[in-house]
Amino acid sequence: MEEKETQQSEPEIAAPVDDSPVFTCQMCGQCCRGAGGIVVSPKDLVRITRALHLTDEEFIARYGEWRGGKLQIRTGEDNACIFFREGSGCMVHEGKPDVCRAWPFFRGNIVDEDSFLMAREYCPGIDKNCDHATFAREGRAYLEKHDLLAHDRDREGRAVNLDETR
Ligand code: SF4
Ligand code: SF4
Repeated sequence: MEEKETQQSEPEIAAPVDDSPVFTCQMCGQCCRGAGGIVVSPKDLVRITRALHLTDEEFIARYGEWRGGKLQIRTGEDNACIFFREGSGCMVHEGKPDVCRAWPFFRGNIVDEDSFLMAREYCPGIDKNCDHATFAREGRAYLEKHDLLAHDRDREGRAVNLDETR
């Protein structure tokens, strides 16, 4: 099967979350840097292989790695996600995994105020005047609305599994 061109002409870094009153993505790319954590669940694998026109095996061989029993997207030599391009952003925007769609509404930020405060410093898209209770409420609503909640701790990202206790 032929690989779809991943060098899209006008890629985006992340989808702006325009229906959250507490978050508007500034497309800085910060959340695409750093190793690990970009879990590709079975549902994500269907989406991303369709977007790239690859078989599961081809995707895993080219872009994936297994960590803790879960499929994840590899990082490159720059320690950023292998699909991230400085100045251009996400090269697989349409097919990106749910964890990428869900940030900054990760479980840790929703259940823990200190994590939220760090995320608010780190991610310029989070409203600096937003308090934790409001963020948690809006985050849960956002994850539910966009069907981003995970329930399978063995194959989906913990970051989007609100069922888990801390
Ligand atoms: S760190 Fe925040 S503002 Fe920057 S790209 Fe990621 S979600 Fe958007
Ligand atoms: S898949 Fe795209 S949005 Fe997700 S971490 Fe990689 S570059 Fe960023």
